[in-house]
Amino acid sequence: MVARIYTSPYPPISVASESLFTHLFSVTGPNEIGGYPAAHPAFIDAATGATVSRALLKHLALSLGYALRNHPQLKLTRGDTVMIFSPNSLAFPIALFGAISGGLRCTLANSAYTSRELEHQYKDSGAKVILVAEDGVPVAREMLKDLGLAKNEVDQRIVVLGNGLQWAGNRSTKTTADLGLLTLDELLTLGTLPSEERFDGADTHETVLLCYSSGTTGKPKGVMTSHQNITSVLDMVKLVFPPLDPGKDVMLGVLPFYHIYGAVKLLNFPLAAGIPVVIQTKFDPVAFCENIARYRVTASLIVPPILVVLSRHPAVEKNDLSTLKILFSGAAPLGAALVKDQECFVTQGYGLTETSPTTHLLSTADSDSKVGSIGLLLPNLEARLVVDGEGDGLIDAEDGQPGELWLRGPSIMKGYLNNNVATKDCITHDKWFKTGDIGIRDKEGYYYIVDRRKELIKYKQCPNLPVLKQVPPAELESVLLTHPDIADAAVIGVYDEGEATEYPRAYVVPASPEKVTTPDQKRAFGSDVANWIKTKVAQHKFLRGGVIVIDVIPKSAAGKILRRELRELAKVEMENQ
Ligand code: AMP
Repeated sequence: MVARIYTSPYPPISVASESLFTHLFSVTGPNEIGGYPAAHPAFIDAATGATVSRALLKHLALSLGYALRNHPQLKLTRGDTVMIFSPNSLAFPIALFGAISGGLRCTLANSAYTSRELEHQYKDSGAKVILVAEDGVPVAREMLKDLGLAKNEVDQRIVVLGNGLQWAGNRSTKTTADLGLLTLDELLTLGTLPSEERFDGADTHETVLLCYSSGTTGKPKGVMTSHQNITSVLDMVKLVFPPLDPGKDVMLGVLPFYHIYGAVKLLNFPLAAGIPVVIQTKFDPVAFCENIARYRVTASLIVPPILVVLSRHPAVEKNDLSTLKILFSGAAPLGAALVKDQECFVTQGYGLTETSPTTHLLSTADSDSKVGSIGLLLPNLEARLVVDGEGDGLIDAEDGQPGELWLRGPSIMKGYLNNNVATKDCITHDKWFKTGDIGIRDKEGYYYIVDRRKELIKYKQCPNLPVLKQVPPAELESVLLTHPDIADAAVIGVYDEGEATEYPRAYVVPASPEKVTTPDQKRAFGSDVANWIKTKVAQHKFLRGGVIVIDVIPKSAAGKILRRELRELAKVEMENQ
């Protein structure tokens, strides 16, 4: 069969062969860093107004890089991994670029994680030090203690990212609490690397970022994102990004930096595209609208549940949002109903943690005529829509027909850390990455995501915080199977269109089915399990879609859970509710 390979309609960019830090922070002219004025703000703390310019960020990053490499307690070496465990803050870009300037890899952890969830990522990534926001210190300490470390060893692995922000010129009296631990404030005073540790030529393929994603199946895995993955995606997006003006535009950054979407777009884009990011710690509709008015914000990256909240909230009317030109949505389907009646452009992109992340973008010019589309393929990428088959017998979809979206190009991850089997499952020998999403391409080359083949569930983190987070069913299933009264379990996602989110729903087989027979007993069993899971996992993984008692989990002959059958069952159950 001849493969039907689609290329991007955009001209190719030339892919950089230098380190990410060099790409972003090189001196490009008098008083210029990375092509933009060195003195211009890169990040602004929304709450205090404290600002870090491009030049200051570079200096602080090289100072932290120096400390991470040279402090006698840390002594990290090129290629070591540090974990960042923090909500959005002005300290986050210092931590990230500081570690990168010192030649280290960063693994970014969800700031809502419990110590058990954190432990998996800390151990799997091989992290040696954890850079943690003050509020997260008890969780970090518990996690390190559970790993069997003695108290003094625990404390030696922690660096506290304080709240004082004095290094950013903040005049408030708030300083970092004295927890008997190393602090960012202290590390920034020890010295400065003369220049960053470089990863040029073949070394651009070294891993720089390890975000965790469950991929198509199973538990969260470390996605190995290289220097070149990020430099290429930044340059690809820059070529086609909607018309933003480096001198004038301001971005409001509310999506979490620990997700690839925030880590690449919000943390790198101010440097790569010259647009400052106002950092809001977490989404709150009032603060969101007030910050737009206060900082004359012109653009923001959002997820669909944020639009749902904004479309109903009085703060939208109460504040002057006239500067806002574009809301750029990603991470989940953007329904046409949400786009309708908005005062500014609402457009969307598509991508995955494994694709660093953006592969498709819908331009503002097309946002009306192609509502619902994820837009065109970015430069340097190739796509296929595969219907079925293996190896030489692969069948590609006809034009306009659905198929699994496969992608190839410089921004596709290297693979999953410590997991060759999962890597081979999703990347073919000729480098095609299988997204697990079902797409359609229209005659003009615009793509639409119409379904998902993989297990993944995406939930809006928690009711008041509409930020989409991955819920890996396999992880919840393995927690459910530790419950003494559960013999078998399966988890699927059920979609709520009104809230633009999915909810995790569990099907469980009781260990003593004879004790759970009446509807009341089944309901009580389900609600006990739903309460029990709340003591085990982060908020966004709670079983908000319900816990249903079932006689047997439908499985294939090979023992694979037949999730499609469960999804059909859930549809019927919910219609009859
Ligand atoms: P993550 O790795 O957490 O970014 O999740 C990636 C997944 O999010 C994709 O495989 C899709 O299932 C979903 N996704 C991302 N962007 C979109 C979009 N614009 N429309 C539909 N689904 C999306």
